[in-house]
Amino acid sequence: MKKILSIILSFGAVLLVGCSPTNANSSDGNSTTNSSQQAKCSHDYRLISSTATCTQDGEEIFECRYCYQQNIKNVQAAGHSYNKNVCSACGNTITDISQLNYEQIDELYDALFYICPYTVDSDTLSASRTLYTSAREQVEDCTNALDAAKNQRPVRVYNSATGQWEYQINQKLIDDAQGDLDEAESFFALCEDSYLFNCKGFAWELTLNHIKSKKASNASLKEKLATFGAVQLLSMDSESTKMPDWYDDIVLSIKTIIGIDITTQ
Ligand SMILES: [Zn+2]
Ligand SMILES: [Zn+2]
Repeated sequence: MKKILSIILSFGAVLLVGCSPTNANSSDGNSTTNSSQQAKCSHDYRLISSTATCTQDGEEIFECRYCYQQNIKNVQAAGHSYNKNVCSACGNTITDISQLNYEQIDELYDALFYICPYTVDSDTLSASRTLYTSAREQVEDCTNALDAAKNQRPVRVYNSATGQWEYQINQKLIDDAQGDLDEAESFFALCEDSYLFNCKGFAWELTLNHIKSKKASNASLKEKLATFGAVQLLSMDSESTKMPDWYDDIVLSIKTIIGIDITTQ
């Protein structure tokens, strides 16, 4: 029984040390803690303030919640911790892809590469453009040939009612020309689909390569895409000033991945 009592007593003593705030804020009004009290305290330090920021070194002040003893630690700037383009620690926001660090650029590249529909190299694009252009010329030629066939009156027929010779159209010539035109148009449609497909793939290739170069800015990427878009529209004789469909896809993809709208400066 005596043994149990002594165990309880020593346990109580441990608790008393644990409850040392009563020691620290002693009721005699003496709020300063002396070194012997601190020595007895089983400190429990909490971070109470820090002057370090993402970009500047500073101090972290820890204080014991029982005896209020403080520990000051020098800390180095932690650097921003970005979630997309916004630092979750300080709110610093990146608005231009040229401000991304290499790690972020790699992440952007990998994510873009992952969602990229396909890429097409410049040789394939160039061959596709040549085919597209010649198919379009073929359609023009066939259209002209059909017009000519319709306007020709190569057949000489005697009109017994009037007693005159008349010149009439050659329907077979027209039917043949129409057949040629139909064929040329369906081939052109295939070439156009293929060319649009390759343009889209090449635009993505341009984007990926430019991001990979680690030299991209909003302006430089936008300019590359705008230049290529203009070439595409010109080669298609389009009078549209709106960029091809792939442009919005690429802009939106980058915005979704990293939060940056490359169309803003
Ligand atoms: Zn303490
Ligand atoms: Zn930050």
